Amino acid sequence: MTHAAYIDLKEVRKAYHIGKEDIPIFSGLDLAIPQGDFVAIMGPSGSGKSTLLNMLAGIDRPDAGSLGIGDHRLDWMGESALSAWRAHHIGIVFQFYNLLPMLTAAENVELPLLLKPLTRRERRERVGKVLDLVGLAGREKQYPSSMSGGQQQRVGIARAIVSDPDLLLCDEPTGDLDRASADDALRILSFLNRELGKTIVMVTHDPRAAGSARRTLHLDKGQFIEAGTAG
Ligand code: ADP
Ligand code: MG
Repeated sequence: MTHAAYIDLKEVRKAYHIGKEDIPIFSGLDLAIPQGDFVAIMGPSGSGKSTLLNMLAGIDRPDAGSLGIGDHRLDWMGESALSAWRAHHIGIVFQFYNLLPMLTAAENVELPLLLKPLTRRERRERVGKVLDLVGLAGREKQYPSSMSGGQQQRVGIARAIVSDPDLLLCDEPTGDLDRASADDALRILSFLNRELGKTIVMVTHDPRAAGSARRTLHLDKGQFIEAGTAG
């Protein structure tokens, strides 16, 4: 048995290589997040917030160091194991929703389920349940273009949770929303954390968004500085 935190990064190194140039982003990043936490990550543009989320999603690989999530060591896994793991454990919420315009709200939410051994009826039940949870019951057949930004983001959140992942990664989820829609999205994220026990890591520039997290970490010059606790 291990006593490591749910998310456990030790001495993670990551650099981008452009031509002959090395651009180090992290040179020894440590991070420990317990299961059930809701963490906001703030920091200047270019400080590596998206790179970190991509590593937590198993999309980007660390160059060195250990990256554990739950019982898995992502730095030990190959590409196909990583994508199978991601489909089970991770939901991602994007700033600009990333919905497919030619699909309805329900079809967008159903997408991650098409990879799973579920019947059409089981898929439809799950889609109905999460659309209900985000307050979009009755809008199954609407296309993204006929929805407000706030509604599209709630479709994005429904799609992120339809596979019942334990970890939600959100990259500026309120960055494109007006205040009321941002508050709706944040209320849903808080509900998912408090009532359904989802662990949430949310990158944000928005202090109001950070205020709905349990704690905020500031990323600067490749390291974390904790900034008080809330909630
Ligand atoms: P943030 O999300 O905090 O703005 P990013 O993680 O997007 O920061 O980027 C961190 C740094 O890495 C930036 O300097 C950026 O230019 C660089 N970077 C990000 N992605 C790539 C990439 N695919 N190739 C090269 N450099 C990258
Ligand atoms: Mg970013």
